[in-house]
Parts: sequence; C-alpha cells; structure tokens
Amino acid sequence: MTTTAKGIHRVAVLGAGTMGHGIAQVCASAGCEVALYDIDEGTVLEGLDRIEGNLDKGIDRGKVTRDERDTVLDHLRGSLKVADAVAGASLVIEAAPESLELKSGLFQAVQKAAPDDAILASNTSSISIERIAAGLDRPSRFLGLHFFNPVHIMKLVEVVWGPETSHETLELGVAFVRRLGKEPVVVKDAPGFASSRLGIVLGMEAIRMVEEDVASPQDIDKAMELGYRHPMGPLKLTDLVGLDVRLGIAEYLHETLDSEAFRPPELLRRMVADGKLGKKSGEGFYEW
Ligand code: NAD
Repeated sequence: MTTTAKGIHRVAVLGAGTMGHGIAQVCASAGCEVALYDIDEGTVLEGLDRIEGNLDKGIDRGKVTRDERDTVLDHLRGSLKVADAVAGASLVIEAAPESLELKSGLFQAVQKAAPDDAILASNTSSISIERIAAGLDRPSRFLGLHFFNPVHIMKLVEVVWGPETSHETLELGVAFVRRLGKEPVVVKDAPGFASSRLGIVLGMEAIRMVEEDVASPQDIDKAMELGYRHPMGPLKLTDLVGLDVRLGIAEYLHETLDSEAFRPPELLRRMVADGKLGKKSGEGFYEW
C-alpha cells in the first residue's frame, strides 16, 4: 500500500485538456511515470506537444536543462484506454469536463482497473467531492486536488477533503503537492473551496462598481493592485479567466451558498450575451 508521497511512482491523469496536460507535466517533472488519458486522440497528442512546448520555453528561460526536458518527456505516455492508463497507478488525477455525471461515470471505470489502494483525486473547481465519491467502493481514498491554470507556473493547489476522505489520504495529498514543488492549502469540501469563494465576491463587486460608474475598470483594478498589493485587479483577472466562466461559477455559488454577495450583476450577463468574454474573444472590460 502506498503510504508516502515518495512511494507514488505511477500517476494517471484523465483528460488531456487545459488542466490535464499541465498536471501530467508537473507530475512527470517530479519523477513519476505518467499516463495521460483522453477520449480524443488529437487532444492527447496536442497535450504532449504542449508539454514539450512548455519545457522548451523553460530551456529558453534557463529554468530547465535539455537533459531535464528529455527525462520528463521519457516519463510521459499518452493513452486512449482508461483501464490501460490507471493500471498500476498509485494516484489517479481526473481533469475531465466539469460534469458530475461524467466524472462519476469515469471513476466507476477507474475503480474497476486501478489498484485497490490507489488514491483517486478530482481537479474539479466546483463540484462537491462528497458527491463525486458517492458511488465509489473506497471513498476514504478520494479527495480533491484543485490545481490552477497554467499548472506548470501556478504554485497553489487546494487539497479538498470530503466527509469520507481519510486522514491518511489527506496527508498523502498534501505531501504529494509539496513533492510537486507546489503549496497546498487544506480546504473542507464547501462550495467554491477557499479560492473561488473569495475571488468571485471580489470580482462580482468590482463589476457592480463599473455598473454604478464608481470608477473606470482601469482605476478599480489599480486600486486593488497598488492599494492592496494584488498582482492583478479583479476585472483584468475576469477578462483572463473568461466572463462566461466566472458567470457560471457565480451562478453556482449564488444558488448553493444562498448569499447575495455572489449574485451575478446584470452587466456581466449582458456582456456574456453580447459575446464579450474577455481575452479569448478580444474584448471584455479591456480590449485585447
Ligand atoms: P478542457 O475542456 O480543456 O479539458 C477536458 C478534457 O477532457 C478534454 O480534452 C476532453 O476531450 C476530455 N474528456 C471529455 N470526456 C472525457 C472522459 N470521459 N474521460 C476523459 N477525458 C474526457 O477542460 P479543463 O479546463 O482542463 O478542465 C478540466 C477540469 O479542471 C474541470 O473539472 C474544471 O472545472 C477544472 N479546472 C479548470 C481550470 C481552468 O482554469 N481551466 C482550473 C481549475 C480546475
């Protein structure tokens, strides 16, 4: 049985998109053998290419050596079969689309093929860990590992424990995050965990201030950047994350936490309906 983070040699990452390829990269960089699984072959290949591109940029910046890049790439393999990806894995990290039904179904397939003592983790940003673990044979070995985008750069990982998560699983999760060179924060399974719950309140209030002409988006952001030492103001951050994504999270938190602090402002709804989604569409609170 895996009892230490160092004992985690094989990792399976499920979903090779924005988050999955980055999670695979940091696990391989920490010396694990990583299988990167997706239902779409093109995405697996693209994910492996993106990792190589990230490592090449690291070489240009003097942060990665050529030998290190080659070793990391040797530790990675793509997979199109979930049973093959999770066979022999001590840790399975799921980064598939944000749907309870999809994630639950995927973990059913995982538990049939993964070792009994494997730790199973979800990178969900909003779904309850308890609900995803509900259909599992061993919910004590299930937890949330919530990475941030881009994974190979962002230091934070929220380690989320549900009512059934064992102390040992939580400790292993924390130790593994440290092994990746990242900083864990331990959070109870509650809507929005620690990061989104605070971040969304600030974002929604900033948008309400634009709506009420309190100040320009630039000046609201500057107030937080220079006055509170935030590295980036809440409106620029909303543009980078995507207005549609933030609207979705705000609606979910408004409903689940039943607090007006999360109510999405009309301006946000209008901008999303008009296709002003932030950086990805070329316009949000800023022109990109
Ligand atoms: P994404 O759409 O970029 O990637 C999801 C991948 O999952 C796609 O490549 C898709 O082909 C694949 N997929 C679909 N069905 C699958 C299945 N049954 N099995 C395996 N793979 C399947 O999404 P993403 O942004 O990487 O988000 C993944 C998860 O991470 C979500 O739960 C999301 O909430 C969470 N998350 C996202 C971010 C972010 O900034 N994008 C940050 C933190 C957490």
